[in-house]
Amino acid sequence: MKAPTLNLLDWLRDAHAMEQQAEEMLKADLSLFENYPELCIRIEEHLQETLTQKKLVEDCIRRLGGSPSTLKDVAAKFVALAQVIGGIAMTDEVVKGAMCAYVFENVEIAAYTSLIAAAEVAGDADTKRVCDEILAQELAMAQWLLVRLPEVTKTYLGRAAFEADVAKR
Ligand code: MG
Ligand code: FE
Repeated sequence: MKAPTLNLLDWLRDAHAMEQQAEEMLKADLSLFENYPELCIRIEEHLQETLTQKKLVEDCIRRLGGSPSTLKDVAAKFVALAQVIGGIAMTDEVVKGAMCAYVFENVEIAAYTSLIAAAEVAGDADTKRVCDEILAQELAMAQWLLVRLPEVTKTYLGRAAFEADVAKR
């Protein structure tokens, strides 16, 4: 196997680990944002997209001759980044959670942008097409979250003020 293809395979494994982390994070977000139904609907939708992305990336790995048995080990590789992002996202603060969800989508955007270039160099048209498709979904999710961030912040502050008010009585 040529060097660009070896790198591509390696980075696809990283992407697969990233999607596993995305799956866990989105599931945690569903409980974090339980009082924000509009967010939950979109997160549930992106969770379904994420499960498909994971499968598509796995197919690319298999097509390049990568062993699916190594996928589990790779999840460990992603732990450091997951702790940085997930560690904050797992807290119960809705606003930071929404910020972290946005940051995570941008990590995915960076990963697939780089993978598309790697697939071009390796001459892997199938992987490039898959990554193009996934990138569009990550961009849409990131943009959706960014647009809602002010609204989430204001709703949170409104509720926090109300609760403080109730507590005083
Ligand atoms: Mg994803
Ligand atoms: Fe995503």
